Amino acid sequence: MVEILEKYVGRLAPSPTGALHLGNVRTFMIAYLRARSLSGRIILRMEDLDHPRDKPGADLQAIEDLRWLGFEWDEEYVQSKRKALYKDALGKLLSHTPYPLAYPCICSRKDVEAAQSAPHQGEQLYYPGICRDRFSSWAQASNVKINPCWRFRVDNDDIISFKDNFAGIFEMDVAKTLGDFPLARDEFGAGYTLAVVVDDAAMGVTEVVRADDLLAATPPQILIQRALNLPTPQYCHVPLVVGEDGKRLAKRHGDTRICALRAQGLRKKEIIGTLAASCGWIEKGEDATLEELIPLFDLSTIPHEPFIWRM
Ligand code: GLU
Repeated sequence: MVEILEKYVGRLAPSPTGALHLGNVRTFMIAYLRARSLSGRIILRMEDLDHPRDKPGADLQAIEDLRWLGFEWDEEYVQSKRKALYKDALGKLLSHTPYPLAYPCICSRKDVEAAQSAPHQGEQLYYPGICRDRFSSWAQASNVKINPCWRFRVDNDDIISFKDNFAGIFEMDVAKTLGDFPLARDEFGAGYTLAVVVDDAAMGVTEVVRADDLLAATPPQILIQRALNLPTPQYCHVPLVVGEDGKRLAKRHGDTRICALRAQGLRKKEIIGTLAASCGWIEKGEDATLEELIPLFDLSTIPHEPFIWRM
């Protein structure tokens, strides 16, 4: 049995880079029911630091879609309003002794882009530390090339192992696998990887439930937690929703945006029912509300393979 901390705090962390679709909602449904079935609290955190990929209005649309589907949360935060905290955390990494744990890097555009978004599987690149000890400040780096990024300095023995509550034991030799991974593309540290660590700790999140394409992003996050003396929450990475081609849900798999399904006349009970059936809690074709699913929630019936969405 998994040891659950007494006061469970979970979170839903949408990125307003596009409309909420069935894939996001299945993960949020699992996160939500996990918290509610343990009488826990739920935080809604809008992760809007991904300029220019963020789409205007997508944040409000995501909130409306979630409310329409029956999600309720106890606290709500917006990352773009919390930049002072990320700046402070970056300052701590920079003043670490005997050497700073973050440094500016001017390497390829692709690497730099990966610094700002959540690094979903397949997007993580090995970085051999070319810019280590190269610049004494961000200003110096940005004189050489516009848009540098901050990287975290990984030690050779930084091997991370943790027991994921769904995926099981996960281990990574971060120095060999990722090298000095990107922290943020913003001068003051406002980027996904640093912000997610700062916020999960500041908001008292006890378990992170998210899609398993972020499993490999977890060891770097644990390294940052340790560097900043922050607690490590429990993790629970659940399978993605994919199309029939095995690829993560995208436009070519049909319009699975919640706002589009709603406009087509689908009822929220049908949408939640379909997703709940994919987790083994009800029969296929049955309707359900989130409220009705709280007593039926069971992590152990969720298949370990990706859920294939058939149009
Ligand atoms: N906002 C991130 C995304 O939508 C999720 C990050 C997380 O759950 O840690 O990709």
